[in-house]
Amino acid sequence: MRPDRLNPLFVAADSLKGVGPGLARPLERLGLTRVRDFLYHLPDRFVQRRAVANLDEASVGENIVVALTPVEYRASTGRGPLRVLASDAAGNVCAISYFGRASYSGKKQLPLGETRWIAGRLDQYGQMLQIVHPDHVTEESGAALGQLVEPVYPLSEGLTQGRLAALIHQAVAGVPELPEWIEPGLFDKMKLPAWRDALELAHKGEHGPARDRLAYDELLANSLALMLVRNANRARHGTPLAGDGHLRARIDLPFALTGAQTRSIAEIEADLAQQAPMLRLLQGDVGSGKTVVALEAMLIAVEAGAQAAMLAPTEILARQHFETLKRMATGTGVEIALLTGRDKGRAREATLMGLHDGSIPIVVGTHAIFQDAVQYRNLALVVIDEQHRFGVGQRLMLAQKGKRTPHCLAMTATPIPRTLTLAQYGEMDVSRLDEMPPGRQPIDTRVVAVERMADVIAGVERHLATGQQAYWVCPMVRELESEDLAAAEARYAELKLRFGDDVVLVHGQLRPEAKDAAMERFASGGAKLLVATTVIEVGVDVPNATLMVIEQAERFGLAQLHQLRGRVGRGAAASTCLLLRSGALSETAKRRLALMRETQDGFRIAEEDLDLRGGGELLGTRQSGDTPFRVANLEQIRRLLPLAHDDARLLIERDGGLTGERGSAARLLLYLFERDWGVQLLRGG
Ligand code: ADP
Ligand code: MG
Repeated sequence: MRPDRLNPLFVAADSLKGVGPGLARPLERLGLTRVRDFLYHLPDRFVQRRAVANLDEASVGENIVVALTPVEYRASTGRGPLRVLASDAAGNVCAISYFGRASYSGKKQLPLGETRWIAGRLDQYGQMLQIVHPDHVTEESGAALGQLVEPVYPLSEGLTQGRLAALIHQAVAGVPELPEWIEPGLFDKMKLPAWRDALELAHKGEHGPARDRLAYDELLANSLALMLVRNANRARHGTPLAGDGHLRARIDLPFALTGAQTRSIAEIEADLAQQAPMLRLLQGDVGSGKTVVALEAMLIAVEAGAQAAMLAPTEILARQHFETLKRMATGTGVEIALLTGRDKGRAREATLMGLHDGSIPIVVGTHAIFQDAVQYRNLALVVIDEQHRFGVGQRLMLAQKGKRTPHCLAMTATPIPRTLTLAQYGEMDVSRLDEMPPGRQPIDTRVVAVERMADVIAGVERHLATGQQAYWVCPMVRELESEDLAAAEARYAELKLRFGDDVVLVHGQLRPEAKDAAMERFASGGAKLLVATTVIEVGVDVPNATLMVIEQAERFGLAQLHQLRGRVGRGAAASTCLLLRSGALSETAKRRLALMRETQDGFRIAEEDLDLRGGGELLGTRQSGDTPFRVANLEQIRRLLPLAHDDARLLIERDGGLTGERGSAARLLLYLFERDWGVQLLRGG
C-alpha cells in the first residue's frame, strides 16, 4: 500500500483547479494524469527576457519586456494580420502583430492611448520593428518584471504554455515535505537541494543541482527496486534442471552454432542446474540467432522432465516462433503447442489438457499462456521475447511471483550500451550474442534528401516489379502524434494511388484485429508494400522484403533505426535501406545518420550514439523512448547512475534496507517513482 502522505500526489489531474474535461486529453497525451506527473514535467528550457526602457536599448531577435502605448490599429484586407502600432518612451514605433483568430484579442488587449507592458521577441518586418503575438500583455510593471525568466514546457495540442505553467505551479505549491532518502554523506558532498526545494527550483530557472537531484532520485529508485528484486530472487527456490543432451543432439540445424551462441547456451545451462531461479537476459541483435538458443534452453528443461513456455509479444510473432521451433525440433519428437487468445474450442481444450498432464512439454504463445485457466504440470522455464523495450526487466521479475519459481530467460534485440544495461536490468545476468552468423549480406544503407521523393517512389515501383516486397516507415512521436498520424495516412493514400491494393497500412491506433490482418497479408505476400509507423519494430520476419524506406530518419533514435533496418537483409537477396532526411540537419544529426551508413554493428551504434548525444546534450533535447527514465537524461544517467547504484547498495547492505529511518524514506521514493513493484515483490516473497 502506498504511504498515506503520498496520496495527495496521486490524485487525478482534474483535482487541480482549472482542469476540466477539455484539458484531460491534451494532458493525458503528455502523460500528465496525476498531480505527481506535473511535478516531474520539467521545462525543456527557459526564455530569458531583458527589461528595456525603450526599443533603442534592444536588438532585433532579443526577448524583451518594454512599455508601449498603442497609437493606431492597422487591419489588413482579407486574411492578413492586425498590426497595432505602438510607441515607446523615446518615441520609437513598433508593430504588434496578430495573425488569424488572435487578431480578435489584439484590440482588446491593447486599447489605444493606454500604456501596456509587453513581453515578446523583437523582430524586424521590412523597415519596421515588430513583435508577433506577444507572450504577455500586462497593465502594470510588477507582473511583467516577474516574467523575465519563464519555463518552456513540452506541450501537446490544446494546451498553452501559460495554462500548463499555472497547473504545474499549483501542483508544486501543494507538495508535502518528505524525509531525505539520499545517503547523508553523498547528499552533502554533491551539494544537492532537498527534494521539495529541488522541485521548486527546477521549474523556476536553469538550476543544475536541482535537475540533478530529481534525476538522481529517479535513478536511485530504479536501482533500488531492481536490487530488491534481485535479492528476493536469490532467496527463492526453483527446480535445478540438468539435461543429458539426448534431445539437443537431435535438433535439425543446417549450420554450426557461432561461438557466441555456444557460450550463451553454456551460461544458461549452468544457471539452470542451480537451485536459485535463473534470471538472465539474452541480448543479441536482430538476426544474431536467439531462437536456437531459446530452443536449446527449453530442451534442457524437457530433458530434465519439466515443461518450458515461450512468451511472445504478439499473435504473429507467437506463430512465427512456433513454426520455426517446430521445424528445428522435428527430429527430437518433442511436441510443441501454440496457444494464443485466438485459439478456441476443441483444439484449445486439447492443448490445455496436454499442458495440465504434462504430455505437451513446450508451449509457445501470447500472454494467454499465463492465464488462470492454463495449468502446467511442471513448468520450470519461461522464455520471454521482448515486447516493450523497457518492460522486459520488470515483467521478467514479476513472472517470479508465486510459490514455485520458474527459471527465466528474457530475450531482447535492443543492443544497449553497458551503462544502460545496468540501468534497465539491474544486476541481472547477461549473455550477449555479439557475433553474427556467417554469410549475412550487408544492407546497402543510403541517406537521401527528402526532395528526391519522386525518385524514391519510382525506385520502390521498380523494386516491387521484381516480385520483392518493401517497408515504408513513417515516424510517430508522442509530441506530434496527430500530425504524424495524418502524415502517415497521407503517405499511404499517395502510395495507394500508385500501387493500389498492393499497399497496406499499419499503425498503433488501429484495432488489433485490423493490424494483424494487414500484417498477415504482407507476411503471406498478398500485399507488396507495408506502410507503417514504428509498430513493425519488433520481430516481424519477411525475408522477401528487401527494401526499407524510412521517412524523416533524423527523428528516430539510432537504436530504433537500427532495429527497423534489421527487418530487411533477412533473406538471400541483397537489401537496401533508404534513410530520407529533411534539409536542415544539425551536425550531430548528420553524424548520426552517417554512422548508420557506416556500420551494422548494433552494439557499436549504441555506444557511439550515447557518445554523440551524451556529451553535448542540453536540457530538453533528450529523445523519448531511448531510456526507461523520464527525468534523467543520458548525460545524467552516465554521471549519476554509478553513484545511485552504490547508494542503493549501501542502503540494502549496510543501512538495513527498507527498515529504519532512511529505509522508510526510500520506500516513499519507490512509490513516488512507481518502482513499488520492488516493494511488493519483497512482501509477496
Ligand atoms: P534473432 O531472433 O536473434 O533475430 P533468429 O533466431 O531469427 O535471430 O535467426 C536469424 C536467422 O539466422 C535464422 O534464419 C536462423 O536460422 C539463422 N541462424 C541462426 N544461427 C545461425 C548460425 N549459427 N549460422 C547460420 N545461420 C544461423
Ligand atoms: Mg527473434
